[in-house]
Amino acid sequence: VTIDTLTQINNRRSFEERYDLEIKRMKRKKTPLFLLIIDIDDFKNINDTYGHKVGDKILQVVAETLKNTLRGLDFIARWGGEEFVVLCPETNIAGVKEVAEKLRSAIDTHEFTANFLADDKKKVVKKRIHITISLGVAEVKKGQDAEAVFKIADEAMYKAKKQGKNRVILYQNAG
Ligand code: GH3
Ligand code: MG
Ligand code: MG
Repeated sequence: VTIDTLTQINNRRSFEERYDLEIKRMKRKKTPLFLLIIDIDDFKNINDTYGHKVGDKILQVVAETLKNTLRGLDFIARWGGEEFVVLCPETNIAGVKEVAEKLRSAIDTHEFTANFLADDKKKVVKKRIHITISLGVAEVKKGQDAEAVFKIADEAMYKAKKQGKNRVILYQNAG
């Protein structure tokens, strides 16, 4: 199985296979490769406020929106929980910055809705929910092991959280 059952995008295992493939492509073509780690902001609040079922639905729509915003060569997977990972091959720093910002903006501007039981508990009302994501970006350098690259992208993502969420942080690691 290579597809995540909830979101219907690639799962972690299929990402790991693709990662090895992209490393080979990068070396062969001598083109840059970038890793993005994406984490939904304040997702625990969403579950607590609207319930787990609404949370699941939002996860599906986030996955779909991210996938539809990416370019053909880019590869997205659900890493687990409310975290996603993306590989951007054959692009430079300016290009990956553009991709990451497009993803951030696509979620920020998407109108998520949930059916919500009104206070009188008689009618169901549609409620708009604002969702944002934080993104950490790192370049995958030749000879660097995957663990090190993930650590750098993860640190960038946490920095994005610390700086107020709903933003992109790119680390230009020395490699
Ligand atoms: P932060 O902005 O710092 O990322 O805050 P957060 O609340 O998103 O982070 P935290 O890691 O505290 O919470 C993540 C939440 O995501 C907790 C967990 O219940 C929820 N979650 C993870 N996987 C799923 C899932 O498959 N479905 C639903 N509905 N919720 C999930
Ligand atoms: Mg998380
Ligand atoms: Mg989160």
